[in-house]
Amino acid sequence: MALSVAQLYEVMTQLPDPVFILNEDGYYVEYIGGVEQRSYQDGNPLIGKRLLDILPIDKAQWVLEQVARSFATGEVQVVEYDLSPNEVEGINADAGPQGMQRFEGKIAPLPSLYEGKRAVAWMTRNITRQHELQQRLKRLGETDQLTGLYNRHFFFEHYHHKLQGEGRTGLIMLDIDHFKQINDRFGHQTGDRVLCSFSECVAAQLRAEDMFVRSGGEEFLILLPQIDEQILLKVAERIRAAVAAMAPDPAPITVSLGTTLVRPGEAVSAVLARADEWLYQAKRSGRNRVAHDSDP
Ligand code: GH3
Ligand code: MG
Ligand code: MG
Repeated sequence: MALSVAQLYEVMTQLPDPVFILNEDGYYVEYIGGVEQRSYQDGNPLIGKRLLDILPIDKAQWVLEQVARSFATGEVQVVEYDLSPNEVEGINADAGPQGMQRFEGKIAPLPSLYEGKRAVAWMTRNITRQHELQQRLKRLGETDQLTGLYNRHFFFEHYHHKLQGEGRTGLIMLDIDHFKQINDRFGHQTGDRVLCSFSECVAAQLRAEDMFVRSGGEEFLILLPQIDEQILLKVAERIRAAVAAMAPDPAPITVSLGTTLVRPGEAVSAVLARADEWLYQAKRSGRNRVAHDSDP
């Protein structure tokens, strides 16, 4: 069955997600669908208006760039963006979702001209809930539940990015000494609490750009960008001393540390293996100490 123009129009009007027809000069030519009020404000008042008069300048310019890219490539562009109803001039912000919303936009260049101008169909979908869930899952996947520190997975994900700046990068591998005894004497729950205070104590010795993760059990890693050998050793020693000076709750603890500088171009597994060797050295020579690889 072929739809009549009236039926086709009805279908378009009833589409749950909205479609904006935007022309190359940045004018809203038409607004279609968007009947799902839970997810969208009514965009009809925007018809005939100019993006630059409706949206904050940076967002309007960003939209225009996406439109231009869709013309340039002739292909559908898929984008994600944040927009709050309060940022849009001329709509009724009260009817519809409140606060910052996350949208997925699909932008298709249209084959014919609209009043002599090229135009695109910009389909939007409100993905705020999915996006929040995604962010939560991402955080869960990269965070250690006990200490709130990032985990091993996060370390590997961000290792190369941290190495990109100028200067050398240092790695410290830490392992709490005789931690099993804490558990054995005071119970696992107390052990958990000690792990948390230990993490806080170490974190307090670090710069914002240092990456401190719980790599597993009572073992931790710190990646320190833009550092030289002297400072790296100083930081490691400062951490050791700070841990030894913690309030004995329920008993004093100490930590052993293996440190090394990352060599240019070397694999992450090689750096970790070297730090591990030096940590083993620190353990073997009596614990509560820093052992350092001085070969740059
Ligand atoms: P060393 O000085 O040689 O490192 O001795 P250690 O006792 O610290 O090392 P070992 O590897 O024998 O024991 C590590 C202990 O850490 C055993 C394990 O039960 C404990 N542990 C690992 N993860 C957790 C945790 O999440 N909570 C608690 N309470 N204990 C943990
Ligand atoms: Mg261990
Ligand atoms: Mg240990």
